[in-house]
Amino acid sequence: HEFRNPLNSISGMAQILEAYGDNLKPEKKKEVLQQLQRNVTKMTNLLNDVLLVSQKDMDKLQFNPAPVKLAAFCRSVIGEVQSAFKQTTINFDYQAEKQEFNLDRHLLDCVLTNLLSNACKYSPEAEIVDFEVSSQAEKLTFIVRDRGIGIPAVDLPYLFDSFYRASNSLRQQGTGLGLAIAKNYIEQHQGTISVSSELGVGTVFTVIISLS
Ligand code: ADP
Repeated sequence: HEFRNPLNSISGMAQILEAYGDNLKPEKKKEVLQQLQRNVTKMTNLLNDVLLVSQKDMDKLQFNPAPVKLAAFCRSVIGEVQSAFKQTTINFDYQAEKQEFNLDRHLLDCVLTNLLSNACKYSPEAEIVDFEVSSQAEKLTFIVRDRGIGIPAVDLPYLFDSFYRASNSLRQQGTGLGLAIAKNYIEQHQGTISVSSELGVGTVFTVIISLS
């Protein structure tokens, strides 16, 4: 579906332009072209995700740590996610001992965006998501907790496999790639990601990144 829907739209809009392009009002034509462009972008992003999960590409990933002001960084990720899920409230709790850590921004952005977006996507509208960041001597812990649909126990062992989607999530759009990418990223950098969930109650994802 994820690939077929945008491709069908692109094909449909190309047909409209071919058949009626000369007679369309300029603003209508612009609308169709913009829609076409949006679907091309969607396809490109999807393909990038698919390429990223192939092990060959993962091995090429570079770990580029640099000083990151972590609380501000997390707030900007939250802001991005909230703009897509306006009804959800993300409660942010920052308990780390320092403000600045040596981290790979790209890795962190990708992982946190995925976990926070999923927490919102798989929760009822206007629900609350908790996001906690803490630090212990040599590690940083990120916890994302939601009160959403939860994950059936039978699906949990496969959740980080590419293209795997839990049986209760098919009403929401998705590719089953986000968690596979996140796990690959985190493990490349000596981190761990784990999940615990109760069906109909909620889900907790925990990411631990080593700072040494
Ligand atoms: P998707 O694009 O399908 O959301 P992900 O790789 O991010 O892909 O997640 C894989 C699957 O894990 C999802 O399809 C969904 O079944 C399940 N999942 C992930 N996060 C949550 C969550 N917070 N609550 C319930 N189910 C979740």
